[in-house]
Amino acid sequence: MSELSSPVSVLEHYFGFPTFRGRQQAVIEHVLGGGHALVIMPTGMGKSLCYQIPALIDRNKTTDGGEKALTLVMSPLIALMKDQVDGLRTRGIDAAFINSSLRRNERESRYKAVAEGKYRLLYVTPERFRKPEFLEVIARRSIRLLAVDEAHCISEWGHDFRPDYTRLREFRELLGNPTTIALTATATPDVQQDIVRQLGLTENEIRLFHEGIERPNLQLNVVDVWGDDEKLEQIQKVREQYRDGAGSGIVYFTLIKTLSEFSRRLDQQGVPHLTYHGDLERRERRDAQTAFMEEPDQFVLATNAFGMGVDKEDIRFVVHADVPGSMESYYQEIGRAGRDGLPSECRLLYDERDLATQMEFIQWSNPDAEFYQRVYNLLAADMEKVQAFGVEWMQEQLHFRNRSDHRLDTVLSMFDRWGVIERTWDPEWIELTGELPAALRHQDRLDAKLTRDRQKLYALVQYVKHEGDRKAFIHEYFGLPAPEIPGHGE
Ligand code: ADP
Ligand code: MG
Repeated sequence: MSELSSPVSVLEHYFGFPTFRGRQQAVIEHVLGGGHALVIMPTGMGKSLCYQIPALIDRNKTTDGGEKALTLVMSPLIALMKDQVDGLRTRGIDAAFINSSLRRNERESRYKAVAEGKYRLLYVTPERFRKPEFLEVIARRSIRLLAVDEAHCISEWGHDFRPDYTRLREFRELLGNPTTIALTATATPDVQQDIVRQLGLTENEIRLFHEGIERPNLQLNVVDVWGDDEKLEQIQKVREQYRDGAGSGIVYFTLIKTLSEFSRRLDQQGVPHLTYHGDLERRERRDAQTAFMEEPDQFVLATNAFGMGVDKEDIRFVVHADVPGSMESYYQEIGRAGRDGLPSECRLLYDERDLATQMEFIQWSNPDAEFYQRVYNLLAADMEKVQAFGVEWMQEQLHFRNRSDHRLDTVLSMFDRWGVIERTWDPEWIELTGELPAALRHQDRLDAKLTRDRQKLYALVQYVKHEGDRKAFIHEYFGLPAPEIPGHGE
């Protein structure tokens, strides 16, 4: 297999791509040389290859003593793990995952396989490190590379915060401080510093590969609107502009209710479109995504649930019908436009009153200490009923009146992350496994998080009001070097 010792040969052999994108190759070479890396690249650019290719290259077989070195991939996204691993396996790559979605016997047989030296790539959630069985088998392997995907989850201030990611330094030590690559689509300079610190490294020990959306073909516009009629008019205008084989487009909405209303009005006017949101059945969502990906000239109304795995090249426009909640999510969503390099537009429709919706959303996403305690007490007192009647029953006990009150979802998700509860392959099953942590008991800490969420929304308002170059604003927010002006410098 000596022909598979260069990154490009592995790229062709396993993935069938002729060339690397952006700085993939530079990252791979750096990691293969034993250097730590922090990779920030927009979603869909191809971060995975940055660790998958090093995982498949044998540069010093002799020192491995015949055993296959293992690349450990940490990701919080259980829902994606199976697809990612299936994708690798169909390419003939010896990969596996272990997470809470597995039944016990499956999990045990995978532990055994790890201990026996199987697998090149093993995907786990950070919570796996709480399990002594896992620590025991992983100790028997030499870890070639640790990949920390979705590394922004380290940041206590993000909505994706994973408490176990704050133990990364300890995990790295357990693994013998292997070469480490952390990857994310968005990280402000603060979050970048957090990531490096949590890895137990200094800035001099890790190289930053930061790629923005360097797409001169993207036009960023903000249009002030008043009310839904003006929004609909704008949406139709953009659609008209890029009709008939020009390419596809996405319109993002904050609320499903508004999305449905716009969908109804477009139907009335005979404008064909797809819809994608969380209230659709799994199958309906999959069908919508497949249609969007495979058919030319598609037009979809979506919530932010739409996006994972959307790497269509010819997305001509991304319209935000409502103000998004943060620069981070805005940046991710516009990053889907114009991958093919042809002129594309990102149009944000700004109606000041929509800020109220986002403020309310932030409120529900930040329950107070008293509410955390109430849910905890309910679980502690009535676990049997919770297990029998599920989350809906809990909702009734907590006397919800408002339909958009999603505090319970927030609490359960936080409990899950903090190890207060555990869920298994059965989505209705909840088990109480820990105490209420200080972070969810102290109102001042919860208040600080609420303030940060509001600041993130405020940054978006500043973006809307920004008079100068919008790309420069985004670059500054994420700590990227200012975009190059063609014709100036090299
Ligand atoms: P990210 O993690 O950055 O969001 P992924 O690693 O999931 O992105 O890759 C997104 C898509 O891009 C995948 O379908 C992948 O196969 C494709 N891709 C990645 N690198 C290349 C490349 N060099 N050439 C062609 N396609 C690529
Ligand atoms: Mg990824």
